Amino acid sequence: MSLTNDKKRVPLLVDEATRHGALEAKTISAKSVVTAPWVRLKCIYGCDRFGTSHCCPPKTPTPKETQEILDCYTSALLVRFDGKTSPTRVIVELERSAFLAGYYRAFGFGAGPCHLCTTCNTEECVHREKARPAMEACGIDVYATARNNGFPIDVLSDESCEGNYYGLLLLE
Ligand code: SF4
Repeated sequence: MSLTNDKKRVPLLVDEATRHGALEAKTISAKSVVTAPWVRLKCIYGCDRFGTSHCCPPKTPTPKETQEILDCYTSALLVRFDGKTSPTRVIVELERSAFLAGYYRAFGFGAGPCHLCTTCNTEECVHREKARPAMEACGIDVYATARNNGFPIDVLSDESCEGNYYGLLLLE
């Protein structure tokens, strides 16, 4: 994919993201996406959805595997949302658009657990075309990744705090 093509196609993806409800989106270096072993501890010991779906650990890539995947890419689209729009739903749409625009390796990560089925069919995912793991479920440090790229993110200390949620689309 040439730089000229990127200049034409990335703005279309950014427009599409905002049309679907994202607050903002920008291209980032894949090197600015941070993975860390401790992220998985938050799933294993901090989340009651651990082990309940194909989009949660231990079925998702480990931080090390995710880093190996990130190393196959040079750029990505980081997309910021408030709590009103599902990052995963939008990222799936963007992944398809990016693929059809020629980014044949496009792959997206959302946020939070998969909500496509009332109860996950843990034998075999029944919506593979739409189910995507959260960034954090794959060992990505979302806080460090957002801050590396000038996006806001803070721990929500109570329910009145406004959250920032992120999706990531690997582009190549
Ligand atoms: S789409 Fe359904 S079966 Fe697949 S991971 Fe999500 S909840 Fe589980």
